[in-house]
This record gives sequence, structure tokens and C-alpha cells, in this order.
Amino acid sequence: LLDTSTSPTNHYAPKAFDAVIVGAGFSGMYMLHRLRGMGLTVRVYERGADVGGTWYWNRYPGARCDIESVDYSYSFSTELEQEWRWSERFATQPEILRYANHVADRFGLRTDVEFDTQVLSAVFDEHDETWRITTDSEEEVTATYFVLATGCLSVGNVPAIPGIDAFSGPTYHTGAWPHGGVDFTGQHVAVIGTGSSGIQSIPLIAEQASRTTVFQRTPNFSLPARNRLLDDDFVRDVKANYPDRRRVARYNSGGVFRIDNTENAIDVPGDRRRARYELLWEEGGLNFANAYSDLKTNLESNETAADFIREKIRAIVSDSAVAAALTPTSYPFATKRPCVDTGYYATFNRDDVELVDIRTDPIDTITERGVRTATTEFEVDAIVFATGFDAMTGAINNIDVVGRGGEVLRQTWAAGPRSYLGVACAGFPNMFTIATAGSPSVMSNMMTSIEQHVEWISDLVERSIADGVGMIEPTREAQDGWVDHLRELADDTLFPMAASWYMGANIPGKPRVFLPYVGGVGTYRELCDSVATEGYRGFSRV
Ligand code: FAD
Repeated sequence: LLDTSTSPTNHYAPKAFDAVIVGAGFSGMYMLHRLRGMGLTVRVYERGADVGGTWYWNRYPGARCDIESVDYSYSFSTELEQEWRWSERFATQPEILRYANHVADRFGLRTDVEFDTQVLSAVFDEHDETWRITTDSEEEVTATYFVLATGCLSVGNVPAIPGIDAFSGPTYHTGAWPHGGVDFTGQHVAVIGTGSSGIQSIPLIAEQASRTTVFQRTPNFSLPARNRLLDDDFVRDVKANYPDRRRVARYNSGGVFRIDNTENAIDVPGDRRRARYELLWEEGGLNFANAYSDLKTNLESNETAADFIREKIRAIVSDSAVAAALTPTSYPFATKRPCVDTGYYATFNRDDVELVDIRTDPIDTITERGVRTATTEFEVDAIVFATGFDAMTGAINNIDVVGRGGEVLRQTWAAGPRSYLGVACAGFPNMFTIATAGSPSVMSNMMTSIEQHVEWISDLVERSIADGVGMIEPTREAQDGWVDHLRELADDTLFPMAASWYMGANIPGKPRVFLPYVGGVGTYRELCDSVATEGYRGFSRV
């Protein structure tokens, strides 16, 4: 191990750690646990006041996971797996946050986390072969390994609508919701945005508020959750078979317990296809999006699924003009992340809910009293921004990361992120990123991807220490190859046809590059494993 003691001769020498991790969500928590278990000294910095990341910040009404809770959980500890009991098929945010707290308590994680502290910069010191990390608490520390566990969806996006500060009432972003909750009783509430967070929160806001006005730019395909309480028999069965369940999840496309259907929709007779869609619609959840293997590669096949959902929207929403406005037609199904809802479309049958289609009636300004579109001023008491995130690259680009020779990561990424395997960057030795751009991350059950990343990175660190390797980073050649591979994979799919946050399209000026790896978590895992067994192929180790 490295000598990490603070130099006794230099009063001002920064504290030295083997590793510094940014973020105490599920990625940072597990990374801390693993590296500490290897005997390394670790410091985690977290901007929030406690652990949980996404589930610490996103406390809006209706926030819950849309991966089944028994799969959206750590698998690294059998004891943890057996002692925790999920209460619902899709856990709510408070329950997931309780789980994160339980994990932090159980493994004593908080002692190495500095909360309420934002990392501002990380500069690689070539002379000392160490990272120098500064925070807003004006502390500087050094670390041999620097891990960005900063999250894919952790930097809220508030659109630059003129007059945004003029509004006299309260405004909320779903991704930074007040801890005590918000009482909308008796209020007229404007909700701007109809992505996953909007679709989860709108039915509950509408139930409470006296009037709800939803401003929609792009209609989304949403699948019914069919959430339910988990009964004891189900839980017992899952726990008895957890090893098998996890094995399936690790090697299929999405990191969940599902046997991928290898059939193409295009090859199946219409009535049989329809029956399958009906079955999956009734089962609820995201499995519908994997009904057939060619839904994301063949437009004709995709249309069969898209049409099925469009029909459902028309059947649920009684006003045909509203139904038409809620129906996505401008991009293929599942090329924007499909949403999972409880009563979303039916909410628009309420007399106290109205939909404003801002493609035809654009928002002009936010005024002191509310939201003004081209035709109307909507006077409201509160505005909810369900406007998403600067996904995947936002949190990393918020930090001044400077590598070898003064290379600034933000500049290198100006035309889109560049990494090898989505875990490491050429010119940035001993720096790793978890479950972000260039890896399956948001295309998968993130828990499966996070565990794979953390374990692979820990193995790499362990190997480096054992081999006496001081610095490890990918070669430019390997990195260029990975960037090309990501693009080629995405170009073989329908994903680039949508102006999605996967493509950076929700942030003005962000380069349009398909950000995640679409080859599936199983293929990705095998690839990473082969890189490791071949002596970390594509990495330079000195
Ligand atoms: P995060 O949980 O985002 O944690 C990153 C942490 O880093 C944050 O706490 C942040 O404060 C901190 N941080 C960032 N920058 C800095 C800095 N400079 N200094 C200090 N701290 C910093 N995934 C699924 O698989 N299934 C789902 O159903 C699902 N539902 C979701 C619902 C919502 C509303 C959202 C927003 C995301 C959802 N996700 C889902 C994705 C979710 O982000 C991941 O599943 C997972 O929680 C990510 O964990 P993480 O630790 O990588 O990142």
C-alpha cells in the first residue's frame, strides 16, 4: 500500500488519501466500501447532506424506481440481500432512501464521507503523480486514485425561459425537492415538462392542487407500472433464488431478471404480436420495451409497438384533441427513455387539469403572476420544473478536471465525451468514472451496472498495486476505438432518430452525441472482463 500519512515536516501539506471519490450515491457508497475493504484510505465528498444521491435529491411526489425493487438493489452482500425486505414492486423514493441509509449504517460508510462539500477541481500533479483535489470548504487533499461517482442525472436542468426570476410564487425543480415536501392544496400549479419525473408527479400534484396546468414540449410514451405490494411468498421465492436471479441480470441486455426475447416483431403474425403487447401492457413496467428484439433497430417493427401504445392513449383520454396532443408521433418508441406511470394519461380526464402543447403555443415568458405563452397568461401559485438533467456529462463537466500536460477534460469533451469503456480517459491517469457516458448505465438497471463498474475498477486498482504499477490510463488509440465503437453501435439502432437526453438534445449547445453504450450489460461485462484478463488491454501501465 501507499504511504498516505500527512508529512510531519510540512505543516501545510494537504491530507493524502489513496483514493478520493466524488459522490455518495449508490456508486460512491459501493466504491468506498470496496476500496476500504482493500485497506486503502478513502475520502468521499458529497454535495448533499447525506447518502443516497438520486434518492436524496428527488423527493417529488410520485418519485419511485421503474426497475423492480428486488432487482434495483445491491447484490454484493448476501446478508444485506436477505435482511432487506422491499415492500412494493416499484419502490418509492423514501423507501429507496431508507435502503441507502441502511447500507450506510450497516457498512459504517459515513465516517469517510465529507457531506455538504462540493468538489470544485481535480488537477493531476505529474511531478508527484497524484491528484490534487479542492472543494468549496477550501480544503485541498491529494489522492493516488480519483473516482467520479457523480451520477448520470444529478445536475438539474432549468430551461432559460425569459423572466424566470420574475415569478412571485415558489418554484421547484423535481431534482432538488424540499425535504419537508410541498403542500399544493388549494393552489393552481404549473408543471413544465413531461419526462419521467413529470409523468410520475403530475397525477399526484393534480390530486392535491385545485388546478394543474401541464406544459408539454414533447409527448412521451408511458407504460403502466401496475405497481403492487409484494407478498411474502414472492419475497421468499426471490430471496431463495437470488444468486440465479442476479446471474441472469448480469448477463442479459438490461441488467434485470428477464430472458431476452430473440424473436423479431416483424417476423411474428399481427394477432400474436398484439397478444404479446397486450400481455406485457397488463403486466406493467419496462418489459414492454423489450417485447421483441428488433424494436430498437427496425422502424417498421417499432411502429407496431408505438401504434399499440397510441391506441391505448386514445382509449384512456376522453378528449380526442388532448389525446392527440399526448400521443408521440415524432420519434420511434423507446428511443427516448420510456416512462412508467400510475394514472398519467387518465389524469388528463380531470376537469381541473389542462394540457398546454408548447409546440403549438410556445412559452413566451415567465411573469410575476405565472407562465405566459404566445396566446395566454396562466396565473398560477407555484411552478414545478420537471425539466430533467444535464445528463451523463453535466456533473463531470462541472468540475475543473485537469490531467497530464494541463489537459482540461471539459475541453477534450467539448464535442462529446471521450473515454475507454466509459470508465477511464487518456491523459487522466488513475481517474475513473462510474456508470456514466460510454457505458451501459442509463440503458440498464443502474444497480447492475454500478456493481459491475465498481468491482472492475477495484480489481484494476488491486492489480495495479500488486504489480507495482504507479499510473494506469487508456491509450489514445484504445479511447478513439471505443468512441468509434459507441457511435457505430448507436448508428445501427433507431436511437439517433430522437432528440433525447441520451443524445444531449435537451441542453442547448450540448453536442449531439449518443452518450451511453447500447450493446447491453452482458456483452459489456464480457468485454470488460476480456480487457482485464488480457492484462488490461488498451491501457498503458507505468
Ligand atoms: P447519483 O445517485 O446521482 O449520486 C451522485 C452524487 O454525486 C449526488 O449525490 C451528487 O450530489 C454528488 N455530486 C455530484 N457532483 C459533485 C461534486 N462536484 N461534489 C460533490 N458531490 C457531487 N435508475 C435505474 O436503474 N432505475 C430506475 O428506476 C431509476 N429511476 C430514477 C428516477 C429518477 C427520478 C432519477 C433522477 C434517476 C433514476 N435512475 C434510475 C438513475 C439513478 O440515477 C441511478 O439508478 C443511481 O441512483 C445512480 O447512482 P450514482 O451514485 O451513480 O449517482
